[in-house]
Amino acid sequence: MHTPHSSSPPGNGATAAHQGQREGSPAPDPIVIADWKARLEATPEAIRALLDAAVAEAGPALADHFYDRLLADARAARFLTIEQVQQRLKPSLQRWLADLLSARVGDIDALWATQEHVGHVHARIGIPVDLVGRGARVVKQELYARLRALAPDADTALEATVTAGALLDIALESMTSAYARSREIAGQIDGSFRLFSLIQNVSTERERQRALLLGWENALLYTLTGEQAGDPQGLLLSRSEFGLWFLHKGLASFGDSAETREVTALTTRIDQLLLERLPHANDIAARRLLLDEVRELAGQIRSLVLVMFDGIGDLESGRDALTRLLNRRFLPTILRREIALQANTGRQFALLMLDLDHFKDINDTHGHEAGDRALQHVAALLVDNTRGSDYLFRFGGEEFVVVLGSVGRSESLVIAEALRRAIATSPLKLGEGHEVPLTASIGVALQDGHPDYERLLARADAAMYHAKRTGRDRVVEASDGLPVPPGAMLLGG
Ligand code: GH3
Ligand code: MG
Ligand code: MG
Repeated sequence: MHTPHSSSPPGNGATAAHQGQREGSPAPDPIVIADWKARLEATPEAIRALLDAAVAEAGPALADHFYDRLLADARAARFLTIEQVQQRLKPSLQRWLADLLSARVGDIDALWATQEHVGHVHARIGIPVDLVGRGARVVKQELYARLRALAPDADTALEATVTAGALLDIALESMTSAYARSREIAGQIDGSFRLFSLIQNVSTERERQRALLLGWENALLYTLTGEQAGDPQGLLLSRSEFGLWFLHKGLASFGDSAETREVTALTTRIDQLLLERLPHANDIAARRLLLDEVRELAGQIRSLVLVMFDGIGDLESGRDALTRLLNRRFLPTILRREIALQANTGRQFALLMLDLDHFKDINDTHGHEAGDRALQHVAALLVDNTRGSDYLFRFGGEEFVVVLGSVGRSESLVIAEALRRAIATSPLKLGEGHEVPLTASIGVALQDGHPDYERLLARADAAMYHAKRTGRDRVVEASDGLPVPPGAMLLGG
């Protein structure tokens, strides 16, 4: 389990690089909080002292044991063999345990926030949930053995064990809740990215599918009002081009929802009607009746399909409206994918955090519109000076993130420097030969194998911040000693 060192309250950083990137924490679950409170209130001082003593005495050995046990699993080894994780994991596990077992009622809110944070970190990293359960089991076994050894009598040992078990379970429950929510949100964003890649042009696709559905209705009308009713097999909606599109792409794109289920059900009903009634619809009146029923159902499908497409109408927000670069909400999807790719193939990647210098002055001097044009201009320069396999994000107002795939350290620095130069040597051209010079400060962080993408962002951010402080218009490579920008969060892991 990864536990945080500490977390400073989010402030207004110079760069506010992680604004909106942090996990949103809902209000604590009142049931959990009430149980927690009841448990702590019911804990006698003697038991609390015993728990403290057990953690103090067993802490280091317990952390070692925990680490060794988890490392035996290849899946855990992927997260744990990273040096930075190793350095921090054992002490933070001990601290987590000490905080949990020595807590008083007044500590509950902070403790809850910690479990929430740890759950989110686990989710970001993608630790399998059963490994967290195994870690908890190892901790409990060690702790219970120590309590038995330290307790003056069997009754005290039992009470201490029950108390420790309850406190650990409450913490794990909170952690799991955050984990599950975080995974769910990440899954939704991954899904919308899939959709975004699959259906590149939403409005064209919507019209195409509408036309296909109408085309099927017209063909049906033609057949049913003709002399020969024909073979229903050839008229089925599920076999039509729209039906096939919906099955293979629509369902994959829109995912499981009330609308997609309804469309599936309506399609089945239409086909059943056709199969059952068409062979017996011998006169024109019967066929008209059937046609009216089918068209009523098809009309419902048409509206539902519009609703579904409208639901992804803001898919355009997959791209930033001004610069047409990717929206930052897809950044976690991309970084998780790149981190996994690195773990599986050894291909490194790098993240550049780029912030335009003195951009406020450009707005102030030339107007907001010129500022907007400058942002578009820089976005175009980024496109021109990177590869098709790289990802370009508008990260914030005048901040950009570039994810360079399959690069090593020196290559990433060369590309960053080329971008810096391209911006510095390509002023924005306003009318009448007027030029506005632009420069950018760039922080470069090479993925070092750490499983948490937030850490990579934080490292690039710190490097960019350093570039600002040392004169701007420069590239700075991330290194461990760089000061953390104000407002940046100290990350767990
Ligand atoms: P520094 O070199 O320290 O980065 O200075 P700065 O002026 O660039 O930094 P600061 O973060 O103080 O200001 C960023 C400015 O960018 C503030 C805001 O008015 C401007 N900005 C943010 N988004 C947009 C946008 O979409 N269009 C325009 N025109 N300006 C924007
Ligand atoms: Mg800025
Ligand atoms: Mg700036």
